[in-house]
Amino acid sequence: MGTRLTPEQADFVAAVRDFAKRECGSREQRDALTGNGRDPHNADIYGRLAALGWLGVCLPEEYGGAGGGLADACLLLEETSYGMVPAGGFITTVITAKAYERFGTERQKAEVLTGAARGAVLAIAMSEPAAGSDVGALSCRARQGPDGDWLIDGQKTWISNAHVADSILLVARTDEAKHAGLTMFHVPAGTPGMQIRGIETMGGREVNDVFLSGVRLPADAVVGEVDNGWRQLMAGLNHERLFLAANMLGLARRAFDDAVAYVREREQFGRPVGSFQALRHRIADLATEIECTRLLVREVAADCDAQPDRLFPREASMAKLKATETAKRAALEGMQMMGGYGYATEYDMERHLRAAVVSTVYGGTSEIQRDVIGKSYGL
Ligand SMILES: Cc1cc2nc3c(=O)[nH]c(=O)nc-3n(C[C@H](O)[C@H](O)[C@H](O)COP(=O)(O)OP(=O)(O)OC[C@H]3O[C@@H](n4cnc5c(N)ncnc54)[C@H](O)[C@@H]3O)c2cc1C
Repeated sequence: MGTRLTPEQADFVAAVRDFAKRECGSREQRDALTGNGRDPHNADIYGRLAALGWLGVCLPEEYGGAGGGLADACLLLEETSYGMVPAGGFITTVITAKAYERFGTERQKAEVLTGAARGAVLAIAMSEPAAGSDVGALSCRARQGPDGDWLIDGQKTWISNAHVADSILLVARTDEAKHAGLTMFHVPAGTPGMQIRGIETMGGREVNDVFLSGVRLPADAVVGEVDNGWRQLMAGLNHERLFLAANMLGLARRAFDDAVAYVREREQFGRPVGSFQALRHRIADLATEIECTRLLVREVAADCDAQPDRLFPREASMAKLKATETAKRAALEGMQMMGGYGYATEYDMERHLRAAVVSTVYGGTSEIQRDVIGKSYGL
């Protein structure tokens, strides 16, 4: 794709923008759809995105998808984020679906990918109370009984969208070897022994604790190979980091546009506050940062699409780092430039800030991304 859109992609972007404007264009619509900003996922809107065929944007056609690339999925994520479409389930769904596409059995793919294209939400559960950045230290245990069934006990935490998910891709320990002892499991919602409890956050209803006590799964619930979960996770990092970057690029653009619209209108000392050089220069800097982010995200997406079997750890980490830090900066700057009104819940800027501040934590913190980038230079 490079940094320019094909005519089909430009049409797609225009259609998503039109949808967002129609369905979520006003604050009243967004409040009604999200319980005043507390719920980032609306099942009705999500169902409509599915009906339009957009949720399968980068899934294979044989499973009901549109057969597009990562770059196409990034455009959807960017534009739904920009348009504040409450489709919070899509990000974990598209990340998780890519793992099934790569490592799932035919039966798993037929069920999970087809479901995702039709509007099912997927979640992925790696993190635990004592295993955050050090995911390889996770201790949720899976033991195989003589009948072949797996028994799972442990706790996962911070699991996005688990409360609205049709299934969870669970990473559990099957061997003591730190990284070489992890396995992925397909766990349908409602499996006996699995309990989901919401965690209150600044972002509203988005993340969950997941408790697993005597959860019994059939032998064929394994996704990929036993003890190969770490390598499978690493293979998915291109997707995960890139998708998170595209999502935050959309948010950065939105915070920027909202801030510019405000400082054009707001007058103090007899002139628009945006005309003061102190603000105008910051607007210029932000615009430049956002444009750099856009070029980087597009370029990394194009590289990943061109060489799907290659890992781009440095580039994907750069995209995630740059986009999330830029979104956070755009929302913080936006709030400052709006003065007291930026802080008021009546305006969207505080929602942008709440969404942006956590983006430098999930999917690998900014410190971890910098570590990955630094290590890629042999340091
Ligand atoms: C909103 C949200 C959604 C999430 N969604 C999911 C999900 O769907 N599935 C899932 O499995 N997990 C999810 N997570 C978990 C997320 O991936 C972890 O929070 C993240 O990896 C950081 O782990 P931690 O919170 O335990 O922080 P810690 O790992 O305890 O880190 C604390 C601080 O120490 C720093 N630090 C840690 N190690 C190093 C190091 N080696 N070098 C330098 N600094 C370091 C960190 O950068 C951070 O600043 C989510 C988290 C949040 C907040």
